[in-house]
Amino acid sequence: MGRNGNGSVGFIGIGTMGREMVLNLLKTGHAVRAFDLNEAAITDIAKEGAARAENPADAARDADIVITMLPDTPHVEAVVYGQHGLLQSPPPGRLIVDMSTISPVAVRRIHADLKQQANVSFIDAPVSGGPLGAKNATLSIMAGGEAEAFAKAEPFFRAMGTTITHVGASGAGQTVKLCNQLVCGINIQAICEALALGRASGVDLNLLREVLLGGAAGSWMLDKLGPQMIEGHVGAGFRIDLMFKDLRLVQEHAQALNVPLPGTALVTSQYVDARAHGEGANGNQALFRVYDRMTNQITG
Ligand code: NAD
Repeated sequence: MGRNGNGSVGFIGIGTMGREMVLNLLKTGHAVRAFDLNEAAITDIAKEGAARAENPADAARDADIVITMLPDTPHVEAVVYGQHGLLQSPPPGRLIVDMSTISPVAVRRIHADLKQQANVSFIDAPVSGGPLGAKNATLSIMAGGEAEAFAKAEPFFRAMGTTITHVGASGAGQTVKLCNQLVCGINIQAICEALALGRASGVDLNLLREVLLGGAAGSWMLDKLGPQMIEGHVGAGFRIDLMFKDLRLVQEHAQALNVPLPGTALVTSQYVDARAHGEGANGNQALFRVYDRMTNQITG
């Protein structure tokens, strides 16, 4: 139990996002027991007040809720079904929330297995807002699962985010997140195209951005990523590799449901190109380098 009777959390996945989310849980009086495959990440968060866990089961051992924040579907499956996993050793609070972006189909399978085999509720609650949203506790959180389990998880969500929405049954949180990513990806591509055309025409790109921001073409992406694209700052931010993973999840989901997504297919191929040119660890603004190459601005 944390300060003032606040619930205790087992947190698995102390990466870019998870670390900031744990800091906010600690700040709001929750006790946190943390696990990550990366020993250095546990040591770092232990200095901030979290307890160390040896494995997922250990992170869960006295938790009201276990939260996972892992890269992709296989990582979440490993933590649930693997050795020292959560299916074998669920938290006493019988509530697990996955906040990673993973496959909605896998979510529904995990949800059913945890319910049937261990009487544990499972909520999918992916987030939007990036590392800054995680740091400032302003994440947008979209959750799927039973209303009762969502209500139990909500006080923990409040420590990490501001816009918190129960969007439907198990898997619905991931579906909404995938729709979010599809819009973000196509929007980034649209901005790349406008900047490439503006540059080739000799227009001042900062002025172009300002004008677009003031009208119907304005967007969060143009606001936040536009300056980095114009200045060629490719390093920081949401990684190309993670967006490529999300677009793959979008395509898999859409194909299974026979929904054609030609725009998503096109932008995905540009992410393939970016990764083939070594941009995977760069932020999404580095997609503009695909256009740099196509318009002969850089070689390589
Ligand atoms: P990250 O790679 O920085 O962190 C993931 C952490 O999980 C790492 O520390 C890794 O060591 C750990 N890990 C991997 N497998 C593990 C296992 N089996 N057991 C324990 N720990 C394990 O990733 P991130 O940027 O924090 O993203 C996490 C999730 O959140 C992803 O699904 C991502 O798509 C999503 N997301 C990220 C952002 C962003 O801007 N970074 C924004 C929204 C959503």
